[in-house]
Amino acid sequence: MVKKIAIIGAGPSGLLLAHYLLRRGDKYQVDIYERRSDPRTVSFSKSRTYPISLNERGMSALRKIEGLEEAIKAISVEMTGTMFHQKNGKTRLTPRKKPLTTLDRTKLAIALLESLTQKYNNSRLNIHFNCQCTSVDLAPKKVKLQNLETEEDFTIDYDLLIGADGSRSLVRESFLTTEDFECEQNYVPNDYKSIFLPRPDENSGIHLEQGKIHSWMLKDGTFVVLLHQRDESMGGVILFLHNKNQIANLSTTEEVLQFFQKNFPEVAGLMPKEEAEAFLNRPVSRILTVRCSRYHQGDSVLLIGDAAHAVSSSIGQGCNAAFEDVVLFDNLLNEYSDNLAVALEQFTIRRKCDAHALVELGDNAFPSSAGLFIEFVLRESIAKIMHKIFSKRFAPSISELIFDTTVPYSEILDSYKGWISKVKKSNESLISEN
Ligand SMILES: Cc1cc2nc3c(=O)[nH]c(=O)nc-3n(C[C@H](O)[C@H](O)[C@H](O)COP(=O)(O)OP(=O)(O)OC[C@H]3O[C@@H](n4cnc5c(N)ncnc54)[C@H](O)[C@@H]3O)c2cc1C
Repeated sequence: MVKKIAIIGAGPSGLLLAHYLLRRGDKYQVDIYERRSDPRTVSFSKSRTYPISLNERGMSALRKIEGLEEAIKAISVEMTGTMFHQKNGKTRLTPRKKPLTTLDRTKLAIALLESLTQKYNNSRLNIHFNCQCTSVDLAPKKVKLQNLETEEDFTIDYDLLIGADGSRSLVRESFLTTEDFECEQNYVPNDYKSIFLPRPDENSGIHLEQGKIHSWMLKDGTFVVLLHQRDESMGGVILFLHNKNQIANLSTTEEVLQFFQKNFPEVAGLMPKEEAEAFLNRPVSRILTVRCSRYHQGDSVLLIGDAAHAVSSSIGQGCNAAFEDVVLFDNLLNEYSDNLAVALEQFTIRRKCDAHALVELGDNAFPSSAGLFIEFVLRESIAKIMHKIFSKRFAPSISELIFDTTVPYSEILDSYKGWISKVKKSNESLISEN
């Protein structure tokens, strides 16, 4: 019998999972419900997007679906290193062994969506935009939704419900009514705002090499990350401590420009007045981390991606990990011949350790204090040299393990326990000072 799958959320994880489920043949009928409008039809909203980098963890998941890797690469830029810009104008390059594939989150979602709708017609796939999930009734397997355009409420039933609805997941919230479900949610200390700039032209006197992630950091931990985009623009974010941040006090376009001029002159040099104004009006976004005790409920609900294990953006792994979830679930469906009850339970068993480790790494692999950051850079350089010479005795550096390998997150955490606890202490004292 054909199983009815309801996916809540048309973000990267929900869309990639739809690809994988539909590829399994006509045993699954998929409906995706997304509260936002169809990103292909609305004008590009800069307030809700930011660049994402994908490494082998995410790219290998895309590669398994015909045409997806090519489609994503066609709209991405490869980054071969990070350029740290210092206050004195000097730069330091940390090269990358393997390039990162970087693109805008919304453009990634559009590419996944376009490929889905090209491959499957509405006899197997229906995507309902402007439809917000408002509650989940687990026992009768029903979901209440609201069409945000017509304000009409409606109810659907499902055989399998996928919570791919991000870090503030409503599907996850419904688990709170069940026995033995625990979930810890924390805001990361850094909030962020997106930044969109034109590429520097030859006359600007600003040189930001293509194919590098550009980064600037202030003593108080505020930092900017800027990347060249495929479309001749640059996109990035400024991250800053939630409390006492300098950004919240900016109230005019002039103040925005002065702030960047004083602290990030290269960014100011590229920022037109319109972007300063847009920046001022753009909301500050908070990032939530999520650690929960299981990702499934009975034989009929699964949490994936940020809904299951949202993580700090500083580690650049949320989407990569979300794509790993999709591959794991597909493998489990293979292993257990599409027996959902077993595959769902096994998903929790096999994923929990790595998902918890990922959140810990996200919080504490990279220091927020400028002082410890110098130690981090030194440690990275030494680890890289030692690993190159004595590869059997010395592990790759922590960032190589995270970005250049598919080593499970729990193993990385295990190899770098000492460093993680040092960073944790430093991060905690930095937060209490602020
Ligand atoms: C600044 C920043 C930089 C990042 N950089 C990277 C990076 O470099 N590499 C990386 O791997 N990851 C990165 N991430 C993390 C990455 O963006 C997320 O991990 C990824 O988007 C998770 O995908 P998802 O589909 O699980 O959730 P989301 O992207 O959050 O998508 C969830 C979807 O569900 C919809 N939704 C939510 N609630 C409802 C509801 N009630 N009803 C219907 N629809 C609903 C939302 O509108 C959304 O479209 C970054 C995150 C941030 C904030």
